[in-house]
Amino acid sequence: MENIIREEMDAIGSLEIKPTVVVPGELWKESGRWDSMGEALLRVKNRLGADFVVSPTAEEAFTSIVRDELSSYRQLPLSLYQINTKYRDEIRPRYGVMRGREFVMKDAYSYHHDDASLDEHYQAQGRAYRRIFKRCGLTVIPVRADSGAMGGSGSEEFMVESEIGDNTLLLCKSCDYAANVEKAECKPDYSPRLSPDQAKEAAADIPPVEKIDTPEVKTIEELCAFLKTDAKSFIKTLIYRAVNVELDLSGAPGCGNLTKHKAAPGAPETYPEAFFAVAVRGDLDVNEAKLAAALKASEVTLAADTDVIRVTGAPVGFAGPVGLKTAPLILDRTVTGMNDAVTGALEKDKHYRHAAYGRDFDGWLAADIRTVRAGDRCSACGGELYEKKGNELGHIFKLGRKYTQSMGLNYLDENGKSHVPTMGCYGIGLDRTLASIIEEHHDEQGIVWPVSVAPFHVVVIPIKYQGAVKDACGALASELEAAGLEVLLDDRDERAGVKFNDADLIGIPWRIVVGDKTLAASRDGKPAPQVELKRRGETEARLVDIGKAAAEIAGALRRELAELDGSLIQ
Ligand code: ATP
Ligand code: MG
Repeated sequence: MENIIREEMDAIGSLEIKPTVVVPGELWKESGRWDSMGEALLRVKNRLGADFVVSPTAEEAFTSIVRDELSSYRQLPLSLYQINTKYRDEIRPRYGVMRGREFVMKDAYSYHHDDASLDEHYQAQGRAYRRIFKRCGLTVIPVRADSGAMGGSGSEEFMVESEIGDNTLLLCKSCDYAANVEKAECKPDYSPRLSPDQAKEAAADIPPVEKIDTPEVKTIEELCAFLKTDAKSFIKTLIYRAVNVELDLSGAPGCGNLTKHKAAPGAPETYPEAFFAVAVRGDLDVNEAKLAAALKASEVTLAADTDVIRVTGAPVGFAGPVGLKTAPLILDRTVTGMNDAVTGALEKDKHYRHAAYGRDFDGWLAADIRTVRAGDRCSACGGELYEKKGNELGHIFKLGRKYTQSMGLNYLDENGKSHVPTMGCYGIGLDRTLASIIEEHHDEQGIVWPVSVAPFHVVVIPIKYQGAVKDACGALASELEAAGLEVLLDDRDERAGVKFNDADLIGIPWRIVVGDKTLAASRDGKPAPQVELKRRGETEARLVDIGKAAAEIAGALRRELAELDGSLIQ
């Protein structure tokens, strides 16, 4: 797999280097990620007490190397990659190598003088990724991905469908729209946003907002039953804690005491922590990736109960937009079309009904922050969206100047004027890709490796490894190797059945069985030694002349490889 990746990276002009895995913490302080990365970043100290990072990704390391080398526009564009160990202190490593703490990644970083050049390389990486996964025998679904919080302008993830997938993908039944749920958009299923005046007018016939007793009613379901209404007429309000908020909060409700700070010299000024009330229609969910993007925050999480009580002045479960003054109110666009809603009244056991947007409450910000789900309509063509579970194998990303700016990367143009280059990054997880190949290519007996990534092309199994059989196996293995095949000779002292099962389990594409009986075969009275040949995945073996086995497998291998990648074995 590494070789496939190298060939494709080299073909698009990316150059391989091998930086260290442990890098100075100083670089991460420059980019601001020393503070913003959270607990997944393994920070260590050396004997002198200096800070280091065990690389979870390498934007900083590469940008620092390029910073030392780059001077002229003539050196751009520049694309570099490594295939190297990464470490992320994942809370829940699982499914073997699908999500490990230590894993191998191919990561490439590119530097450009303008957006057009970045786009060109980004597209080339995207094509290379499609070829890499095809050559690995994988069916990948490229999807639009979230790029909001990272500040980038384009991002595509390469997903494989998987029952144990961590990601939810939304795909259109009618066109080729495909997106990660973090990013997915849909056609609005509500009337367009009204101006506050229009909203007031629309609410003219709605009875005034009314506070009602709702004792012992906790969940939305209970409330719907109690009021004989459905979740769609309910406004769900959640309190979120956001960190590193770039949005300007001066003058926002409840934010008077907040001050901005700078994590690093070149980093943007952000509020370290802020709380928001987020309202969405009762049958829908808040999408945290979209919310983070709307707030320009590096992370958002549901607030702790104590913070909810402080912000709403009520026990958990009674938050609502009407009369809320202690935090900026973020409205999902579904809410800006609601004018006869039920919602929490910021008081224990009380709700409002007939709450109308524009008349009874207004948002500090309105944005698309809800999670799209199966059954919603495609934003591109109006077709029906459906869901699939998937695992992310690769990710390509236009980063813009986030790292080059904060880390002070410059070059001089034709006129000697200094500029900051723009940047892209492109990653593939090798362990996870390998695991995904096995998920796509297996049966009850075990792995069925595509020939391009099989650890051996052919396994030679002697029924009993002795005498004439042993000699024949040795000669055959040499002949197969001479034909360019990678050969495993099972010389263990095991029963034939055990060796067959193991060969199936580890998924070697071709199996040759050599036994006394077939070696002694004769045709027209002359000796015609034969062996049994079987392709993994087929049930029946067939007999072939021992002298023809190597050529036959080499021919089949060539055809299969050509089908996967269009190349031939040397
Ligand atoms: P995830 O969302 O699965 O945590 P990510 O989006 O954080 O992944 P990237 O930073 O985009 O991952 O890293 C590029 C690639 O590295 C991923 O597409 C994936 O194949 C691989 N990868 C990331 N984390 C892990 C891990 N813990 N174990 C194995 N592979 C990983
Ligand atoms: Mg990713």
